[in-house]
Amino acid sequence: MKLYFFKGECQMNYVTLNNGLKMPQLGFGVWQVEDNQATDAVAKALEVGYTSIDTAMIYKNEKGVGKALQQSSVPREELFITTKVWNTDQGYENTLRAFDESLERLGLDYVDLYLIHWPTPEYDQYVDTYKALEKLYKDGRVKAIGVCNFDIEHLERILNECEIKPVLNQVECHPYLIQSELKEFCAKHDIFVEAWSPLQQGGEVLKNESVMKIAEAHGKTPAQVVLRWHLQNNTIVIPKSVTPSRIEENFNVFDFELSTNEMEEINKLNRNERKGPKPSEMNVR
Ligand code: NDP
Repeated sequence: MKLYFFKGECQMNYVTLNNGLKMPQLGFGVWQVEDNQATDAVAKALEVGYTSIDTAMIYKNEKGVGKALQQSSVPREELFITTKVWNTDQGYENTLRAFDESLERLGLDYVDLYLIHWPTPEYDQYVDTYKALEKLYKDGRVKAIGVCNFDIEHLERILNECEIKPVLNQVECHPYLIQSELKEFCAKHDIFVEAWSPLQQGGEVLKNESVMKIAEAHGKTPAQVVLRWHLQNNTIVIPKSVTPSRIEENFNVFDFELSTNEMEEINKLNRNERKGPKPSEMNVR
């Protein structure tokens, strides 16, 4: 993995996706950020040094995110912008239309990564939806395509019925839900795992005794330790915060390393405990 240096002492790891595209391993998520709040939050993130932003049509803040991107001095080619097609927009033609609408709200002429938000298996449209993503990729309107919340069986269908491998699978992942089996499958197929709710939504994991003890040993916060654990597991992370000090705190995770024993101790915290729904049961439209 290459190390790039940003603003003074901050560093960033980049991963190389299976199509050769480089992606920052740490990005900034904006779920549950109001459109008008998203501009300030993203502006702060860009100022701190994040260049990867994760939004979605359903977050209803693509406009606010776009505004921050336009106002920023970071060149477009240094940004990595992800958005997602929502469940109601699935299907080939609908997805192409939804993509155009997302692009317009963002004020961009391409996105770096376009993802299917949920497989919603009951509707059985995710293969057709993915074929629309393949068209967007072939037309050069997205730099990479992937999925979110796909279980192994959903990934297997994409691998068997489509041409282009997803570059990543964005799923809920944190020390209470470590996703070993899915991670192993993804690694075998050269698909990155990207963790959503990497901080368990600011939940109990940040008060876990082991996490707090490790944080103290490194002079870091529990959130930084959890993010570092994700990074050392080769997972891409996109923590969200609207608090300027936390936006900064979550970025400062490249100047320390967890030992093998500390990594193991955190791996053992797994409880298979989710914040969000099980992908196979999430069929909301
Ligand atoms: P996170 O695990 O990133 O946690 C965010 C919460 O933690 C917020 O309440 C935030 O508070 C708090 N927080 C942030 N930093 C710290 C810190 N250093 N110390 C203590 N608390 C902190 O949860 P998200 O669910 O937002 O997940 C991250 C991103 O993943 C989303 O924003 C979205 O982009 C993506 N996502 C994708 C999904 C999908 O289905 N594909 C589903 C869910 C999320 P505050 O903001 O008040 O500072």
